[in-house]
Amino acid sequence: MIPASYIIIRPPVEAFSVLIPITGGCSWNRCRFCNTYRNSFNNQNVLIQKYEIRELEQIYIDIDIWSKEVPQAQSVFLGGGNALSVPTAQLASILKRIKHNFHHVRRVSCYAKVLDILQKSEEELKTLQNLGLSICYIGIESGYNILLKYMHKGQTQKMEIRAIQKLMSCGIKASLYIILGLGGRKWSKMHAKETAKVINAVNPTIFRFRTLNVLPGSPLEQEIKMKKFEILTPREVLEEEFLLLSKIESKITSQFRNDHISNYTTTESENFGQDKEYILQELHFLINSDEVSKWKHKNLKSM
Ligand code: SF4
Repeated sequence: MIPASYIIIRPPVEAFSVLIPITGGCSWNRCRFCNTYRNSFNNQNVLIQKYEIRELEQIYIDIDIWSKEVPQAQSVFLGGGNALSVPTAQLASILKRIKHNFHHVRRVSCYAKVLDILQKSEEELKTLQNLGLSICYIGIESGYNILLKYMHKGQTQKMEIRAIQKLMSCGIKASLYIILGLGGRKWSKMHAKETAKVINAVNPTIFRFRTLNVLPGSPLEQEIKMKKFEILTPREVLEEEFLLLSKIESKITSQFRNDHISNYTTTESENFGQDKEYILQELHFLINSDEVSKWKHKNLKSM
């Protein structure tokens, strides 16, 4: 079993941040498409890192070491599948220690699950924001309720909207992840349309795309083998992306990033509404090019 002090996953944008592990594993660990904290050995799906909140003293030791190693650090990422699941008092102590030790930090971030955000009061979230928590990375994955249920995501569109609005009203930025292709062929259109509704309702700080890659040993891999779930071709993924983006209203000022190796385009924007028409034109051009017909599904072994 991999110890909680080892961070298995972090956002690409945090590559140059100080990484402080707060929890091991994921407090939920039930999403059908995810195998981040599991792996398959001898046809068995086994846990490789269990959910565990690290001892405060151990976290303090890491903060003390890294603040001496990189005193000029400007960003700190609190590691773990859903670090916001940690009790507020403990998170507050961690943030205070970071504030005390690192004098140049401008961004402290962590992954957060919708359910964990909803379980914190506004007062708690404001306390964390005052102590330096500046941005949460939230896997909404989709806004389509049927798909969210099928994927065992443990949240609904309504919950997503409430959680993101709550977080942002407390001054914490929201960076949303959406998985293109998550609905397979059957739910592609509904996935696109219902996810756009979430973006329109919350105007998040940032939204980012990932493309579905079925990880070896994940429950979804079994569904595909049994032909119950059909993976989209690269062109179908781009068509889904086009539909989703076309449904987002031009008043949306969010930053938009297509910044992951799993994606088929690398479009980025500082203000989606302003760049919407240009982005759609480029996508339309790509979808209709011959080049796309030659592309193969990426089949990454990790996300
Ligand atoms: S997708 Fe996120 S919330 Fe779901 S099991 Fe994986 S790490 Fe946990």
